[in-house]
Amino acid sequence: CGIVGYVGHRSALDVVLDGLRRLEYRGYDSAGVAMLDGQGGLRVERKAGRLANLEARLDEVGRDGLAGTTGIGHTRWATHGAPIDKNSHPHRDATGRVAVVHNGIIENFVALRSELEAEGVELSSDTDTETAAHLVGRAYRDGETAGDLPASVRAVCRRLEGAFTLVVTHGDEPGMVVAARRSSPLVVGVGDGETFVASDVAAFIEHTRDAVELGQDQVVVITREGYEVTDFHGEAARATPFRVDWDL
Ligand code: GLU
Repeated sequence: CGIVGYVGHRSALDVVLDGLRRLEYRGYDSAGVAMLDGQGGLRVERKAGRLANLEARLDEVGRDGLAGTTGIGHTRWATHGAPIDKNSHPHRDATGRVAVVHNGIIENFVALRSELEAEGVELSSDTDTETAAHLVGRAYRDGETAGDLPASVRAVCRRLEGAFTLVVTHGDEPGMVVAARRSSPLVVGVGDGETFVASDVAAFIEHTRDAVELGQDQVVVITREGYEVTDFHGEAARATPFRVDWDL
């Protein structure tokens, strides 16, 4: 339902939670975050119910364990799988190194799930989304996309059917967040030494009003320095910059 991603110089947890709060008006049933500590660590916390439930969980585990300047967050409106903790986003692959949040529906997830299960992958949720996390993990591990997160995400997007905004992080890539869209909204916010992705400009408008709207079937890589857009095949693509000059 609501998505926020951040790479910059501030506490990613604060920026992402603020962004999720600003997207609360859309309604949701669960919330979660994935934070990179910059030293290879990737932490996920998620909780069914209101953002307050997630915040209570963060207070319980201690927010120090989620320090870092790269992170993603999600508020979920369940379509596949009940609104319970294990179905909340972010979802991870079996190694726990990849974290994915998703808006929309992956229509061919049953086939993808069977393919993964046939390879011995154990799925830990009832969602369509989790298949994407395992596929990205596999693409990053093996084959010609190995070690290349943007290429891995592009390869997976080519296999997905349906409507999706996907936002992906990997513990080995603490300086970037990769996002993709098909028939579901995705905007980039361009700040000074910090870059945002979100399902709606409301998530980052207090930090920057320089935004970029992604086109159909595009992938964007954000870093502290800025952003780069391609199509699902890795060809450079053009997205539409605009200035948010209205008040929310
Ligand atoms: N289909 C996904 C799920 O049920 C994403 C739902 C959403 O857009 O929040 O988990």
